[in-house]
Amino acid sequence: MRIAILGGTFDPIHKGHLAAARTVARTFETDEVHFVPAFTPPHKAPAEITSPFHRFAMVALATAPFDKFRTSPVESDTREPRYSVDTLELMHRTYPDSSFLFIAGTDMYQDIESWKDYRRLFELTSFAVVHRPGFEMRDDFTDVEVIHEGAAVTFGDAPRVFHLPALDEDVSSTRIRSALKQGGDVGHWIPEPVYAYIRKHKLYE
Ligand code: ATP
Repeated sequence: MRIAILGGTFDPIHKGHLAAARTVARTFETDEVHFVPAFTPPHKAPAEITSPFHRFAMVALATAPFDKFRTSPVESDTREPRYSVDTLELMHRTYPDSSFLFIAGTDMYQDIESWKDYRRLFELTSFAVVHRPGFEMRDDFTDVEVIHEGAAVTFGDAPRVFHLPALDEDVSSTRIRSALKQGGDVGHWIPEPVYAYIRKHKLYE
């Protein structure tokens, strides 16, 4: 199988995440896209983050309409943060003979050298780096293949780094949280079932 992985805090999941996943699934003809909510991301203080249970539930609601999308408990089920490299090692054991494509926004990827065991990570997975408004791809990265809309790219065992510059979804979880805190309407940024869940559980008030 060809499996794309989108890790994140998803606090909450929004249409930028879904657009990135759909673009990658289409462009690389992946069999599945696994959304992996982090337990507590190593760079954020746990107290500020919505419980893994709620974040997982919102991801499950948002991904339910899409055949290829899965919600993975592999990180949120643990009692301690799990790094991407650990998740990838585990994915290789769980899905032997599969190829992996790790989706990251340009904001995340620009600090890739600070990720745990990042060199090992490049042995375990290819990357699909999607453009995020305000964050350009670093020009000191070499061996990055620029992929344009509509290209049907296959990836296999030898890890590669792809950059998809066309995505232009200007939305973030931070912006959604602060809009909700001020009583604003965020219906254009998140799927309706997720919005209903947020209201029901009084999240981000
Ligand atoms: P926060 O505002 O809380 O930092 P976020 O909106 O960045 O949250 P995350 O859950 O941290 O969301 O993101 C998970 C992954 O999705 C990251 O690789 C991030 O770069 C990517 N991503 C998030 N939003 C977008 C977007 N609008 N366009 C492209 N990629 C995105």
